[in-house]
Amino acid sequence: MKEILDISLENEMDLVVAHRRSMQVGERLGLTVATRTTFATAVSEVARTAIEYTDNGRLSILVAGKFPRYSLFAHIVFDSDQVFRESDEGFFYAKKLLPDFTFNASGHAYVIEMGLGLPRSLKIDDSKLALLKDYFDHIAPLNAYEEIKKKNSKLNQLTGEQEEEIKMRRELDEKKSEFISVASHELKTPITVVKAYTQMLKLLKNEYSDKVAAVLEKLDMQTTKLSTLAHQLMDVSRIEKGSLQYDLVEIELNSFMQETITLLSSVHAGNQINVKLGEGCLVKADPLRLEQVLTNLLGNAAKYSPRNMPIRIETSLSENKDRVTIAVTDRGMGMSRDGIERIFDKFYRLEEVTSSHPGLGMGLYISSKIISDHGGKIWVESVPGEGSSFFFTIPIHKV
Ligand code: ADP
Repeated sequence: MKEILDISLENEMDLVVAHRRSMQVGERLGLTVATRTTFATAVSEVARTAIEYTDNGRLSILVAGKFPRYSLFAHIVFDSDQVFRESDEGFFYAKKLLPDFTFNASGHAYVIEMGLGLPRSLKIDDSKLALLKDYFDHIAPLNAYEEIKKKNSKLNQLTGEQEEEIKMRRELDEKKSEFISVASHELKTPITVVKAYTQMLKLLKNEYSDKVAAVLEKLDMQTTKLSTLAHQLMDVSRIEKGSLQYDLVEIELNSFMQETITLLSSVHAGNQINVKLGEGCLVKADPLRLEQVLTNLLGNAAKYSPRNMPIRIETSLSENKDRVTIAVTDRGMGMSRDGIERIFDKFYRLEEVTSSHPGLGMGLYISSKIISDHGGKIWVESVPGEGSSFFFTIPIHKV
Protein backbone atom coordinates (compact mmCIF):
# COMPACT_ATOMS: atom_id res chain seq x y z
CA MET A 1 0.00 0.00 0.00
CA LYS A 2 1.51 3.34 -1.03
CA GLU A 3 0.31 6.57 0.54
CA ILE A 4 0.23 9.30 -2.08
CA LEU A 5 -0.86 12.17 0.11
CA ASP A 6 -2.21 13.03 3.49
CA ILE A 7 -4.40 16.01 4.45
CA SER A 8 -5.67 17.07 7.87
CA LEU A 9 -9.38 17.89 7.94
CA GLU A 10 -9.90 20.82 10.26
CA ASN A 11 -12.28 23.26 8.54
CA GLU A 12 -14.12 24.10 5.30
CA MET A 13 -10.91 25.24 3.61
CA ASP A 14 -9.64 21.67 3.90
CA LEU A 15 -12.72 20.45 2.07
CA VAL A 16 -11.62 22.46 -0.96
CA VAL A 17 -8.09 21.04 -0.66
CA ALA A 18 -9.40 17.46 -0.22
CA HIS A 19 -11.65 17.69 -3.28
CA ARG A 20 -9.02 19.33 -5.47
CA ARG A 21 -6.27 16.92 -4.51
CA SER A 22 -8.53 13.86 -5.01
CA MET A 23 -9.29 15.14 -8.52
CA GLN A 24 -5.60 15.70 -9.21
CA VAL A 25 -4.62 12.18 -8.07
CA GLY A 26 -7.24 10.75 -10.43
CA GLU A 27 -5.97 12.96 -13.22
CA ARG A 28 -2.29 11.98 -12.68
CA LEU A 29 -3.29 8.28 -12.63
CA GLY A 30 -5.07 8.73 -15.96
CA LEU A 31 -8.69 8.20 -14.79
CA THR A 32 -11.47 9.58 -16.92
CA VAL A 33 -13.07 12.86 -15.87
CA ALA A 34 -16.23 10.99 -14.80
CA THR A 35 -14.33 8.48 -12.62
CA ARG A 36 -12.13 11.04 -10.95
CA THR A 37 -15.14 13.26 -10.25
CA THR A 38 -16.95 10.30 -8.69
CA PHE A 39 -13.95 9.55 -6.48
CA ALA A 40 -13.44 13.19 -5.45
CA THR A 41 -17.17 13.65 -4.71
CA ALA A 42 -17.30 10.55 -2.50
CA VAL A 43 -14.22 11.77 -0.62
CA SER A 44 -15.78 15.23 -0.19
CA GLU A 45 -19.06 13.74 1.14
CA VAL A 46 -17.28 11.91 3.97
CA ALA A 47 -14.78 14.72 4.58
CA ARG A 48 -17.65 17.21 4.91
CA THR A 49 -19.28 15.12 7.64
CA ALA A 50 -15.96 14.83 9.51
CA ILE A 51 -15.34 18.58 9.26
CA GLU A 52 -18.88 19.43 10.32
CA TYR A 53 -18.50 17.64 13.66
CA THR A 54 -14.77 17.60 14.41
CA ASP A 55 -11.49 19.32 13.63
CA ASN A 56 -9.32 16.23 14.09
CA GLY A 57 -9.96 14.32 10.85
CA ARG A 58 -7.31 13.03 8.45
CA LEU A 59 -7.62 12.01 4.84
CA SER A 60 -5.08 9.72 3.21
CA ILE A 61 -5.16 8.85 -0.47
CA LEU A 62 -3.45 5.57 -1.24
CA VAL A 63 -2.88 3.07 -4.00
CA ALA A 64 -2.97 -0.58 -2.96
CA GLY A 65 -2.33 -3.80 -4.82
CA LYS A 66 0.29 -5.58 -6.88
CA PHE A 67 1.25 -5.37 -10.49
CA PRO A 68 -0.89 -5.43 -12.60
CA ARG A 69 -3.96 -5.00 -10.31
CA TYR A 70 -4.16 -1.81 -8.30
CA SER A 71 -6.94 0.10 -6.51
CA LEU A 72 -7.22 3.72 -5.48
CA PHE A 73 -8.33 4.26 -1.89
CA ALA A 74 -9.28 7.11 0.41
CA HIS A 75 -9.08 6.64 4.20
CA ILE A 76 -10.77 9.12 6.43
CA VAL A 77 -10.31 8.85 10.19
CA PHE A 78 -11.69 11.07 12.92
CA ASP A 79 -12.84 11.06 16.55
CA SER A 80 -16.24 12.38 17.54
CA ASP A 81 -18.68 12.26 20.48
CA GLN A 82 -21.48 12.36 17.93
CA VAL A 83 -22.76 8.88 17.08
CA PHE A 84 -22.68 8.13 13.33
CA ARG A 85 -24.13 5.31 11.31
CA GLU A 86 -23.27 4.06 7.86
CA SER A 87 -26.73 5.12 6.73
CA ASP A 88 -26.17 8.78 7.68
CA GLU A 89 -26.39 11.19 4.81
CA GLY A 90 -22.70 11.82 3.93
CA PHE A 91 -21.72 8.18 4.15
CA PHE A 92 -24.85 6.98 2.37
CA TYR A 93 -24.08 9.02 -0.78
CA ALA A 94 -20.39 8.18 -0.72
CA LYS A 95 -21.28 4.49 -0.63
CA LYS A 96 -23.58 4.94 -3.56
CA LEU A 97 -20.77 6.52 -5.55
CA LEU A 98 -18.07 4.02 -4.47
CA PRO A 99 -19.55 0.62 -3.58
CA ASP A 100 -16.14 -0.55 -2.30
CA PHE A 101 -16.90 1.20 0.99
CA THR A 102 -16.30 0.18 4.62
CA PHE A 103 -17.43 2.01 7.71
CA ASN A 104 -15.81 1.16 11.07
CA ALA A 105 -16.74 2.68 14.41
CA SER A 106 -14.91 1.82 17.61
CA GLY A 107 -16.06 3.96 20.52
CA HIS A 108 -15.52 7.55 19.40
CA ALA A 109 -13.08 6.60 16.62
CA TYR A 110 -14.35 6.33 13.05
CA VAL A 111 -12.47 4.87 10.09
CA ILE A 112 -13.99 5.09 6.62
CA GLU A 113 -12.37 3.39 3.66
CA MET A 114 -13.54 3.72 0.09
CA GLY A 115 -11.93 2.78 -3.16
CA LEU A 116 -12.15 1.82 -6.79
CA GLY A 117 -10.21 -0.59 -8.98
CA LEU A 118 -7.77 0.97 -11.44
CA PRO A 119 -8.08 -0.31 -15.05
CA ARG A 120 -5.07 -2.32 -16.30
CA SER A 121 -5.00 -0.05 -19.30
CA LEU A 122 -3.52 2.69 -17.07
CA LYS A 123 -0.35 0.52 -16.87
CA ILE A 124 0.35 1.34 -13.22
CA ASP A 125 3.51 -0.08 -11.69
CA ASP A 126 5.63 0.64 -8.60
CA SER A 127 7.90 3.15 -10.33
CA LYS A 128 4.88 5.13 -11.57
CA LEU A 129 3.51 5.18 -8.02
CA ALA A 130 6.84 6.40 -6.67
CA LEU A 131 6.79 9.23 -9.22
CA LEU A 132 3.19 10.05 -8.28
CA LYS A 133 4.08 10.28 -4.60
CA ASP A 134 7.07 12.45 -5.38
CA TYR A 135 4.84 14.72 -7.47
CA PHE A 136 2.43 15.32 -4.57
CA ASP A 137 5.28 15.64 -2.03
CA HIS A 138 6.60 18.61 -3.99
CA ILE A 139 3.44 20.06 -5.43
CA ALA A 140 2.92 23.82 -5.01
CA PRO A 141 0.27 24.80 -2.44
CA LEU A 142 -3.23 25.24 -3.87
CA ASN A 143 -3.75 28.54 -2.12
CA ALA A 144 -2.40 30.72 0.71
CA TYR A 145 -4.30 28.59 3.21
CA GLU A 146 -2.56 25.38 2.17
CA GLU A 147 0.80 27.17 2.12
CA ILE A 148 0.41 28.37 5.71
CA LYS A 149 -0.84 24.96 6.75
CA LYS A 150 2.23 23.24 5.28
CA LYS A 151 4.52 25.70 7.04
CA ASN A 152 2.70 25.15 10.34
CA SER A 153 2.91 21.42 9.98
CA LYS A 154 6.68 21.67 9.39
CA LEU A 155 6.95 23.94 12.42
CA ASN A 156 4.93 21.51 14.55
CA GLN A 157 7.15 18.67 13.43
CA LEU A 158 10.27 20.65 14.37
CA THR A 159 8.80 21.63 17.74
CA GLY A 160 7.92 17.99 18.37
CA GLU A 161 11.45 16.90 17.54
CA GLN A 162 12.91 19.58 19.79
CA GLU A 163 10.63 18.61 22.66
CA GLU A 164 11.68 14.99 22.22
CA GLU A 165 15.34 16.01 22.29
CA ILE A 166 14.85 18.13 25.44
CA LYS A 167 13.07 15.21 27.11
CA MET A 168 15.90 12.84 26.20
CA ARG A 169 18.50 15.28 27.53
CA ARG A 170 16.57 15.74 30.76
CA GLU A 171 16.38 11.98 31.26
CA LEU A 172 20.09 11.64 30.56
CA ASP A 173 20.84 14.44 33.02
CA GLU A 174 18.71 12.77 35.67
CA LYS A 175 20.56 9.49 35.16
CA LYS A 176 23.91 11.31 35.39
CA SER A 177 22.85 13.02 38.63
CA GLU A 178 21.69 9.72 40.08
CA PHE A 179 25.02 8.13 39.13
CA ILE A 180 26.97 10.97 40.77
CA SER A 181 24.90 10.66 43.93
CA VAL A 182 25.38 6.88 44.20
CA ALA A 183 29.07 6.95 43.18
CA SER A 184 29.99 9.66 45.71
CA HIS A 185 28.30 7.78 48.56
CA GLU A 186 29.92 4.49 47.54
CA LEU A 187 33.34 6.18 47.43
CA LYS A 188 32.98 7.86 50.82
CA THR A 189 33.07 4.70 52.97
CA PRO A 190 36.27 3.07 51.61
CA ILE A 191 38.05 6.44 51.55
CA THR A 192 37.15 7.06 55.21
CA VAL A 193 38.44 3.59 56.13
CA VAL A 194 41.77 4.05 54.26
CA LYS A 195 42.18 7.49 55.82
CA ALA A 196 41.53 6.13 59.32
CA TYR A 197 44.06 3.28 58.90
CA THR A 198 46.65 5.71 57.53
CA GLN A 199 46.17 7.95 60.56
CA MET A 200 46.50 4.97 62.88
CA LEU A 201 49.74 3.88 61.19
CA LYS A 202 51.11 7.42 61.39
CA LEU A 203 50.64 7.30 65.16
CA LEU A 204 52.94 4.24 65.35
CA LYS A 205 55.87 6.20 63.90
CA ASN A 206 58.48 4.57 66.19
CA GLU A 207 57.82 1.17 64.72
CA TYR A 208 58.91 1.79 61.14
CA SER A 209 61.68 3.44 59.11
CA ASP A 210 61.71 6.99 57.69
CA LYS A 211 61.12 5.55 54.22
CA VAL A 212 57.85 4.00 55.35
CA ALA A 213 56.96 7.28 57.10
CA ALA A 214 57.46 9.16 53.81
CA VAL A 215 55.25 6.67 51.97
CA LEU A 216 52.57 7.01 54.65
CA GLU A 217 52.71 10.79 54.33
CA LYS A 218 52.08 10.52 50.56
CA LEU A 219 49.29 8.01 51.13
CA ASP A 220 47.68 10.40 53.59
CA MET A 221 47.90 13.34 51.17
CA GLN A 222 46.46 11.40 48.25
CA THR A 223 43.64 10.04 50.41
CA THR A 224 42.80 13.60 51.46
CA LYS A 225 42.61 14.59 47.77
CA LEU A 226 40.35 11.62 47.05
CA SER A 227 38.17 12.51 50.00
CA THR A 228 37.87 16.13 48.75
CA LEU A 229 36.78 14.86 45.34
CA ALA A 230 34.18 12.53 46.85
CA HIS A 231 32.84 15.41 48.98
CA GLN A 232 32.72 17.69 45.94
CA LEU A 233 30.78 15.03 44.03
CA MET A 234 28.35 14.79 46.93
CA ASP A 235 27.96 18.57 46.99
CA VAL A 236 27.22 18.66 43.24
CA SER A 237 24.59 16.01 43.77
CA ARG A 238 23.12 17.94 46.73
CA ILE A 239 23.00 21.16 44.68
CA GLU A 240 21.06 19.33 41.98
CA LYS A 241 18.60 17.93 44.49
CA GLY A 242 18.34 21.36 46.17
CA SER A 243 19.49 19.84 49.47
CA LEU A 244 22.71 21.73 50.19
CA GLN A 245 22.19 22.89 53.77
CA TYR A 246 23.85 25.60 55.85
CA ASP A 247 24.53 26.06 59.52
CA LEU A 248 24.52 29.84 59.75
CA VAL A 249 26.34 31.44 62.68
CA GLU A 250 27.69 34.91 63.38
CA ILE A 251 31.35 35.07 62.34
CA GLU A 252 33.93 37.76 63.06
CA LEU A 253 35.36 37.86 59.57
CA ASN A 254 38.92 39.00 60.19
CA SER A 255 39.75 36.38 62.83
CA PHE A 256 38.02 33.73 60.69
CA MET A 257 40.17 34.78 57.72
CA GLN A 258 43.38 34.70 59.79
CA GLU A 259 42.66 31.20 61.12
CA THR A 260 41.67 29.80 57.73
CA ILE A 261 44.65 31.34 55.94
CA THR A 262 47.09 30.03 58.58
CA LEU A 263 45.63 26.57 58.04
CA LEU A 264 45.80 26.84 54.25
CA SER A 265 49.32 28.34 54.24
CA SER A 266 50.70 25.05 55.52
CA VAL A 267 48.97 23.21 52.66
CA HIS A 268 50.26 25.64 50.01
CA ALA A 269 53.74 26.15 51.45
CA GLY A 270 55.14 26.65 47.93
CA ASN A 271 53.39 30.01 47.47
CA GLN A 272 53.79 32.96 49.74
CA ILE A 273 50.40 34.26 50.84
CA ASN A 274 50.16 38.02 51.44
CA VAL A 275 47.16 39.05 53.47
CA LYS A 276 45.67 42.52 53.78
CA LEU A 277 42.54 42.58 55.88
CA GLY A 278 40.36 45.68 55.87
CA GLU A 279 38.01 46.94 58.57
CA GLY A 280 36.50 44.08 60.61
CA CYS A 281 32.85 43.06 60.47
CA LEU A 282 30.43 40.33 61.48
CA VAL A 283 28.82 38.14 58.84
CA LYS A 284 26.18 35.45 59.13
CA ALA A 285 27.58 32.40 57.37
CA ASP A 286 28.28 28.70 57.55
CA PRO A 287 32.00 28.65 58.57
CA LEU A 288 32.69 25.26 56.99
CA ARG A 289 31.15 26.31 53.67
CA LEU A 290 32.98 29.66 53.73
CA GLU A 291 36.22 27.81 54.42
CA GLN A 292 35.40 25.55 51.47
CA VAL A 293 35.14 28.58 49.16
CA LEU A 294 38.46 30.02 50.39
CA THR A 295 40.12 26.60 50.10
CA ASN A 296 38.89 26.33 46.50
CA LEU A 297 40.01 29.84 45.48
CA LEU A 298 43.37 29.61 47.21
CA GLY A 299 43.89 26.05 45.96
CA ASN A 300 43.20 27.22 42.37
CA ALA A 301 45.47 30.27 42.77
CA ALA A 302 48.29 27.93 43.80
CA LYS A 303 47.45 25.23 41.24
CA TYR A 304 47.27 27.55 38.23
CA SER A 305 50.38 29.62 39.18
CA PRO A 306 54.03 28.71 38.99
CA ARG A 307 55.55 27.60 42.30
CA ASN A 308 56.89 30.49 44.40
CA MET A 309 54.52 33.03 42.84
CA PRO A 310 52.87 35.00 45.66
CA ILE A 311 49.12 35.00 46.21
CA ARG A 312 47.32 38.00 47.69
CA ILE A 313 44.20 37.90 49.82
CA GLU A 314 42.39 41.14 50.63
CA THR A 315 39.14 42.12 52.27
CA SER A 316 37.34 45.46 52.03
CA LEU A 317 33.98 46.81 53.10
CA SER A 318 31.66 48.54 50.64
CA GLU A 319 31.14 52.27 51.08
CA ASN A 320 27.76 51.93 52.78
CA LYS A 321 29.08 48.99 54.79
CA ASP A 322 26.40 46.56 53.66
CA ARG A 323 28.79 43.98 52.24
CA VAL A 324 32.37 42.80 52.43
CA THR A 325 34.40 41.84 49.37
CA ILE A 326 37.07 39.16 49.60
CA ALA A 327 39.62 39.00 46.78
CA VAL A 328 42.09 36.23 45.99
CA THR A 329 44.69 37.30 43.42
CA ASP A 330 47.37 35.23 41.73
CA ARG A 331 50.04 35.92 39.15
CA GLY A 332 49.49 32.67 37.30
CA MET A 333 48.37 31.61 33.85
CA GLY A 334 45.18 33.72 33.77
CA MET A 335 42.20 32.98 31.53
CA SER A 336 40.85 33.90 28.12
CA ARG A 337 37.62 35.93 27.84
CA ASP A 338 35.63 32.89 26.61
CA GLY A 339 36.83 30.85 29.57
CA ILE A 340 35.81 33.51 32.09
CA GLU A 341 32.20 33.28 30.88
CA ARG A 342 31.93 29.61 31.75
CA ILE A 343 34.22 28.74 34.67
CA PHE A 344 31.36 28.76 37.20
CA ASP A 345 29.48 26.14 35.13
CA LYS A 346 29.31 22.57 36.38
CA PHE A 347 32.29 20.42 35.26
CA TYR A 348 33.68 23.22 33.07
CA ARG A 349 37.47 23.38 32.71
CA LEU A 350 39.53 25.54 30.36
CA GLU A 351 40.98 23.54 27.50
CA GLU A 352 44.52 24.70 28.27
CA VAL A 353 44.48 23.02 31.70
CA THR A 354 42.77 19.71 30.93
CA SER A 355 45.95 17.77 30.16
CA SER A 356 48.35 19.71 32.38
CA HIS A 357 46.51 20.24 35.71
CA PRO A 358 44.38 17.74 37.64
CA GLY A 359 40.79 18.64 38.47
CA LEU A 360 37.15 17.95 37.64
CA GLY A 361 35.70 21.44 37.31
CA MET A 362 33.45 21.22 40.37
CA GLY A 363 35.08 23.66 42.82
CA LEU A 364 33.94 26.97 41.32
CA TYR A 365 30.47 25.63 40.55
CA ILE A 366 30.03 24.68 44.23
CA SER A 367 31.66 27.93 45.46
CA SER A 368 29.34 30.07 43.35
CA LYS A 369 26.32 28.20 44.73
CA ILE A 370 27.54 28.63 48.33
CA ILE A 371 28.13 32.35 47.81
CA SER A 372 24.80 32.98 46.11
CA ASP A 373 23.04 31.01 48.88
CA HIS A 374 24.70 33.40 51.36
CA GLY A 375 23.25 36.36 49.45
CA GLY A 376 26.58 37.30 47.85
CA LYS A 377 28.15 37.42 44.38
CA ILE A 378 31.25 35.82 42.91
CA TRP A 379 33.17 36.91 39.80
CA VAL A 380 36.60 36.93 38.25
CA GLU A 381 38.88 39.35 36.46
CA SER A 382 41.75 37.85 34.55
CA VAL A 383 44.43 38.58 31.97
CA PRO A 384 45.91 35.60 30.09
CA GLY A 385 49.53 35.08 31.09
CA GLU A 386 49.35 37.65 33.87
CA GLY A 387 47.02 36.22 36.50
CA SER A 388 43.53 36.22 37.91
CA SER A 389 41.59 37.88 40.72
CA PHE A 390 38.58 36.10 42.14
CA PHE A 391 36.17 38.26 44.14
CA PHE A 392 33.21 37.33 46.26
CA THR A 393 30.93 39.35 48.50
CA ILE A 394 29.03 38.46 51.66
CA PRO A 395 26.35 40.68 53.19
CA ILE A 396 27.52 42.30 56.45
CA HIS A 397 25.49 41.39 59.51
CA LYS A 398 27.04 43.97 61.85
CA VAL A 399 30.09 46.23 61.58
P1 ADP B 1 39.20 22.46 38.74
O1 ADP B 1 40.29 23.37 39.24
O2 ADP B 1 39.09 21.20 39.50
O3 ADP B 1 39.30 22.25 37.28
P2 ADP B 1 37.35 24.62 39.37
O4 ADP B 1 35.86 24.60 39.28
O5 ADP B 1 37.91 25.03 40.67
O6 ADP B 1 37.79 23.15 38.97
O7 ADP B 1 37.88 25.56 38.23
C1 ADP B 1 37.32 25.50 36.93
C2 ADP B 1 38.31 25.96 35.88
O8 ADP B 1 38.57 27.36 36.02
C3 ADP B 1 39.67 25.31 36.00
O9 ADP B 1 39.69 24.05 35.35
C4 ADP B 1 40.57 26.33 35.31
O10 ADP B 1 40.50 26.15 33.91
C5 ADP B 1 39.91 27.66 35.65
N1 ADP B 1 40.54 28.34 36.83
C6 ADP B 1 40.08 28.36 38.09
N2 ADP B 1 40.86 29.11 38.86
C7 ADP B 1 41.84 29.58 38.08
C8 ADP B 1 42.98 30.45 38.31
N3 ADP B 1 43.24 30.95 39.50
N4 ADP B 1 43.78 30.72 37.24
C9 ADP B 1 43.52 30.22 36.02
N5 ADP B 1 42.47 29.40 35.74
C10 ADP B 1 41.64 29.09 36.77
